[in-house]
Amino acid sequence: MSHILVYIQAPAAVPTKSQRELLTLAGALGEVRAVLGAPADDAALAALTAWGATGFYAADTGEALVAPQAALLAAAAKDSGAAAVLLPNDSHGREVAARAGVKLDAGVITDAIDVDADLVVSKSVLAGSYTVRVKATRGPALVTVKPNSVHLPAEEPAAANAAPVQVLDLGELGPVATVTGTVERTASGRPDLAEARFVVAGGRGVDGDFGPVEDLADALGAAIGASRAATDAGWIDHSAQIGQTGKTVSPQLYISAGISGAIQQKAGMQSSTYIVAVNKDPDAPVFEIADLGIVGDLAEVLPQAAAEIRRRKG
Ligand SMILES: Cc1cc2nc3c(=O)[nH]c(=O)nc-3n(C[C@H](O)[C@H](O)[C@H](O)COP(=O)(O)OP(=O)(O)OC[C@H]3O[C@@H](n4cnc5c(N)ncnc54)[C@H](O)[C@@H]3O)c2cc1C
Repeated sequence: MSHILVYIQAPAAVPTKSQRELLTLAGALGEVRAVLGAPADDAALAALTAWGATGFYAADTGEALVAPQAALLAAAAKDSGAAAVLLPNDSHGREVAARAGVKLDAGVITDAIDVDADLVVSKSVLAGSYTVRVKATRGPALVTVKPNSVHLPAEEPAAANAAPVQVLDLGELGPVATVTGTVERTASGRPDLAEARFVVAGGRGVDGDFGPVEDLADALGAAIGASRAATDAGWIDHSAQIGQTGKTVSPQLYISAGISGAIQQKAGMQSSTYIVAVNKDPDAPVFEIADLGIVGDLAEVLPQAAAEIRRRKG
């Protein structure tokens, strides 16, 4: 049975949904080993083992930067003879995959939404308009997988004892950058955008005021997203951007407010289960993919929705 490596940038006692998806997908393809991008305690190792890892690779680099991570991944791929390496499709995962791909002279495939037993990768292209099937001609295939692409098992896996960790000696890495300090981002108290069940997103139509979007998000317990027009205007952090050059989300409910629905925005949200669009222009393209469309001013519609949700919640 071939080995499949999964890159876990930040191991934790509760693996993120994206990590669980990567482990689940890898488990369908072969025997899974996880490559640890940061030190993991026993609880994190046990949780990753429960999700299918049969062993771990780590290195004593003490770095969270991409160069040592790529060196570790390449060393782990060589040691295990892995047929494929799965990584998250975020900017860090893509960069680590690219660097490791150069070291291994191996194919790198980004934006994957599925990998089959023959390691043929389904990948969405042209802002999600097409799905193509590709295969790396030189392995191990380094595949970055979009979040929300893999169905997770309905039941949590049974607890497991932590699988063994193999520490690799990466030798002299040469002049690499060093982390001199870290500052934790202030917690918003809202769910993580990529993993949230509900998302409320605002666009240029909010006209600089995300207040109504935030208020509805908090009434629902939703994460906040945005169009590129809103992030480029500096109304909200770039990490909230959804779309072709932002995050891909697939929540149960996506509320789009003051967003026209350009193809690059749709690329990041069109697989949401239920889409509600609020826009004052009845011809806005977002209504083409909305399950429920509300033609109106978001400054009037969103507060009414938030008030009604709070009333029903009691
Ligand atoms: C290579 C490339 C990559 C891109 N990547 C992304 C990406 O990742 N994500 C992304 O979002 N965009 C992306 N874009 C930009 C994209 O093409 C659009 O320009 C952008 O999505 C527009 O944002 P918007 O819908 O907020 O603004 P607009 O298109 O200006 O739409 C604003 C909408 O708000 C409505 N509105 C105004 N006032 C109100 C109100 N009071 N109440 C209700 N509705 C109101 C208007 O009717 C309008 O439909 C990309 C573009 C390119 C070329």
